[in-house]
Amino acid sequence: MNEHDPDLAMPVQYVKGVGPVRAQAFAELGVHTLEDLLEYFPRDWRFAPDLVKIADLQPDQTGTVIGVIQQTDFHRSRRTPMFKAMIADDTGVCYLVWFHGGYLRNELEPGQTIIVSGKVMLYKFLKQMTNPRFTILDEEDQANPERFGGAVYPGTAALPATQIRRIIRPILPDAARLMTEFYEEDFRRKNELIERNEAYRQIHDPLDENKLAQAKRRLKYDELFLMQLGLAIKRYHVRHNAVATAMEHNEKIDSRIRRRFPFLLTSDQDAVIGEIIADMAKSIPMNRLLQGDVGSGKTVVALYAALLAVANKTQAAIMAPTEILAGQHFESIERYLRGSRVRRERITGGITGKKRKELTERLRSGEIDIAVGTVALLQEDIDFADLGLVVIDEQHKFGVRQRSLIRKGKAPHCLVMTATPIPRTLAMTAFGDLDVSIIRHCPPGRGKVMTKWVQPHNRQAAFDFIRQRLKAGKQAYFVYPRIDADGENGDVKAAISEHKVLQENVFPAFSVGLLHGQIKSQEKERIMRQFRAGAIHVLVSTVVIEVGVDVPNATIMVIENANRFGLAQLHQLRGRIGRGQSNSYCLLFAETEDETAVGRLEIMTRSNDGFEIAEQDLRLRGPGELFSTRQHGLPDLKIASIVDDFELLGLARRDAFALVQQDPTLSQPEHQALRKALIKKFGGKLGLVDVA
Ligand code: ADP
Ligand code: MG
Repeated sequence: MNEHDPDLAMPVQYVKGVGPVRAQAFAELGVHTLEDLLEYFPRDWRFAPDLVKIADLQPDQTGTVIGVIQQTDFHRSRRTPMFKAMIADDTGVCYLVWFHGGYLRNELEPGQTIIVSGKVMLYKFLKQMTNPRFTILDEEDQANPERFGGAVYPGTAALPATQIRRIIRPILPDAARLMTEFYEEDFRRKNELIERNEAYRQIHDPLDENKLAQAKRRLKYDELFLMQLGLAIKRYHVRHNAVATAMEHNEKIDSRIRRRFPFLLTSDQDAVIGEIIADMAKSIPMNRLLQGDVGSGKTVVALYAALLAVANKTQAAIMAPTEILAGQHFESIERYLRGSRVRRERITGGITGKKRKELTERLRSGEIDIAVGTVALLQEDIDFADLGLVVIDEQHKFGVRQRSLIRKGKAPHCLVMTATPIPRTLAMTAFGDLDVSIIRHCPPGRGKVMTKWVQPHNRQAAFDFIRQRLKAGKQAYFVYPRIDADGENGDVKAAISEHKVLQENVFPAFSVGLLHGQIKSQEKERIMRQFRAGAIHVLVSTVVIEVGVDVPNATIMVIENANRFGLAQLHQLRGRIGRGQSNSYCLLFAETEDETAVGRLEIMTRSNDGFEIAEQDLRLRGPGELFSTRQHGLPDLKIASIVDDFELLGLARRDAFALVQQDPTLSQPEHQALRKALIKKFGGKLGLVDVA
């Protein structure tokens, strides 16, 4: 028997009114089967406004009429080309004008009945609408003009919106019925969801606004629910495919670990450590994402977890994306572990030959407790005697997944750390198979960071202020969007030329250094050393300083052409200051009237909260650009939006995870329809096909 419902799998070519040519055009829209056609959702819906007769149209007011096109004209030779049509009903005529309306030549022709909406003017004593909205009415529409509205599809030149509507509408009653229910009745009612087939019918041809809203809710819920179900199953599988060491934790271990830190842990750190202890106490491998701004104290948490693993006679690996960052981790770990018996080693890619062999041998025999390095530590040739915990500091590069850590049915506990705040919506989707912990507040004793948008007329005052701070012994960063001027963008400041200006004209009494991506790494390190030592007062750079610089005495950051940076990047840059006890100042130099740019600058001046900023960023840019779902192996969303449908997403997630808790392989008979839908949606992507 055929796995798929034969009717839904029918090629769209055989739908009435399609044929081979239009099937080609549909294919370009990603529509290949009848089912795809039903899932080709409208982008807008229109409902019948108050219809009037042409005679009753009032000048200077907006009105909607139905009329038959009498004649059309295209005036190409005018300075502004113009498409003109005259319509008539039984009470009079009205002219319609579309500037730049050449595209309408293929769409509007005499004899068609159309409904038009627009503002009415008198032009040479005749009624006229300029650039009105219109819909061509088919026969069925004309019989029920109150239903003229309905769906507006994203169309193409080869397949205009009205054409799509004309194809879908007649098949709808029968085709929608093929979309069979996959929820149990109780579940559906509890969540106030209308039936599935009804939702497909109403989305394409809604009876009214209320029915449309119900249809949208059902279809969005389905999409989000299936996505979350996929994630829940994936997570279940990773957790139950392999066992981890259940780590014992007690007061003695706790106080021994805490003694290593020369400060009290913050309540955020304590809370996260509590979550980690609870995770690691189980033989289900931990898979936790720890988020916190740079400097919020993640490394301390990671070290706590590593020492817990070591106390349980297992090994821990701490990994960073680059050698430099791995080096920094190792240094700070060394500081905390000075005098400890815990055996720790830094393993770099540069170590080769005999030395490397010796290190890998010691890892294999369990003579190293904590290994610090890059993700290369997980390479095939490196074996651990008993790897109990992996910490991955990914900064903003996400890659390693727990799946790849499984060895011979054993998996280490896994803690992923990131300094890039991930909005809750994305944490639930793109990283939806991880548990999430957050450190929101930095350790006490840090100064405030104040952010100001500096307009051109305030530049001099800002420079005066900076000079004062420099005189007081503080240091400053100046960040530019580009290395070198390119002539084309005259108003975009470049690091190399501005470095000269700043040194010679603005801060002649101070030492101004220059750092950018084209400088050799040895030279870069030398400049950074000088800046850290205070021999360079002002550091001019491109965004290369984004990662891994920590100079608490630098309390000023100027970002030039700040309007050219994204929110996440601005926030990341600002994270370079505010490391010490004194207050810091972030000055955003920008001249812009662009709405989005102004929005970004305002958020920056208002908020220091990385999560709020990330949430706003997602709103301003849309999720597509920031993190496409496809990039994370999730199916594309056709109707739901993780930003706008946030609440529904939360609901769907809760329901999906509860279901998997109760029937992890969806093998109960009442879940078969859902399981089938899930496999159809994800295919092999999430390893769901092996859900036996
Ligand atoms: P992250 O890894 O999140 O960037 P770190 O763990 O490196 O943050 O901590 C940043 C700085 O704050 C370090 O100098 C560390 O010693 C200090 N620190 C961490 N936790 C505390 C605390 N509870 N109290 C005081 N200082 C702390
Ligand atoms: Mg750190």
